[in-house]
Amino acid sequence: MISPFHYRADELHCEELSLSSIAEEVGTPCYVYSQSAIEAAVTAYQAALQGLRYRICYSVKANSSLGILRVLVARGLGADIVSLGELRRWQAAGGDPRKVVFSGVGKTREEIDAALMADIFLFNVESEEELAVIAEVARTRGVRARVALRVNPDVDPQTHPYISTGLKQNKFGISMPTARRLFESAAKHPSLEILGIDCHIGSQLTKTSPFTDAVARLVAMVLDLERAGIRLRTLDLGGGLGIDYGKGDAVPPSPGEYGLAIKEALAPLAHLDMEILCEPGRSIVGPAGVLLTRVLYRKASEAKHFLIVDAAMNDLMRPALYNSYHPMQAVRDPARTAITTDVVGPICETGDFLARERNLPVLDAGELLCVGAAGAYGSSMSSNYNTRPRGAEVLVHGDKHAVIRRRETLEQLMANEQVAEL
Ligand SMILES: *Cc1c(COP(=O)(O)O)cnc(C)c1O
Repeated sequence: MISPFHYRADELHCEELSLSSIAEEVGTPCYVYSQSAIEAAVTAYQAALQGLRYRICYSVKANSSLGILRVLVARGLGADIVSLGELRRWQAAGGDPRKVVFSGVGKTREEIDAALMADIFLFNVESEEELAVIAEVARTRGVRARVALRVNPDVDPQTHPYISTGLKQNKFGISMPTARRLFESAAKHPSLEILGIDCHIGSQLTKTSPFTDAVARLVAMVLDLERAGIRLRTLDLGGGLGIDYGKGDAVPPSPGEYGLAIKEALAPLAHLDMEILCEPGRSIVGPAGVLLTRVLYRKASEAKHFLIVDAAMNDLMRPALYNSYHPMQAVRDPARTAITTDVVGPICETGDFLARERNLPVLDAGELLCVGAAGAYGSSMSSNYNTRPRGAEVLVHGDKHAVIRRRETLEQLMANEQVAEL
């Protein structure tokens, strides 16, 4: 597929629509998503996993806007959630709770109870203590909870430390020896149904080897349990496949390459006919979205040139949080003279930057800049810091578009507050 974001007559488009016309209609900053790009990513995963009995559970935290979830619901996907709020979003978008897996280290009793009552497919359990609480809540309700144990395979995903989760010093998952013991005891528990094993080793992985190393450890555990008379039915690989942020360094494997590698690693389990789950987030929605922002000021000090734009770290937190790189393009006339500049927002933090030392066309106040690969962990991580309303979100499909989220109003930002005279 040609990139959904492309120039026509020096004017950047998303599918058939010019980004300028969208910015004109909804204002800036705003997120714009290509429905075709999201659907193409889903198709790529489905093709890659062909031959396995699989279920794709989209990781809702990557982008939890209802309009995005709806596209994935329509494609028959399941969901990986980490809070009750995400379950309710999935349901509000028409998603089936029985296709939901619930991950996360800090599920509350209330969340566990609500998820059980919604009859979700599976809890990915992250500790012995959590397993006990799930068993207790299920017993009180007179039901059996379907669970998988999230093991910590202790492999280095070779990604940013903040998004590495499968090392033994991380807070996620259960160590292999503890998991082995818990499988034995949970298998006998009347309120628990042990369905499978799960892992998620990190995000933005740019090689297949950490995945295959992790799978090899899970495979060994599954075979060991089989010998002990415990037969698992699901194996969940988590998410984590990286995307190309255009920095020119490591280009991550495609879903196709990922699929080939994991199929090979899973071969020793062929006789068990397990259902293979995966939980991609970033690689489904990341490349499909951009953040549109307008230049407010150009500012040059002796040392540096700054583009001050109307989007900030509250809109797109990744550069401030992980020092991450996003590709940037002028929405009009990309071929003009370039300059080395920092791109910064209006927030009162030095960490409020979108790019540093970037070579970009010289943009004037009022012009539009397109921040690419912003569909994942962009809007879902946005906040109201500096009392900034979160921007609009627009979904494009061909020459059609819809505002899937209106810009927040200042009234909404203050709605739950009151002054008190004490
Ligand atoms: C965040 C997360 C994912 C998705 O990771 P991506 O890198 O966006 O694919 C999947 N599973 C779990 C448990 C997660 O926490």
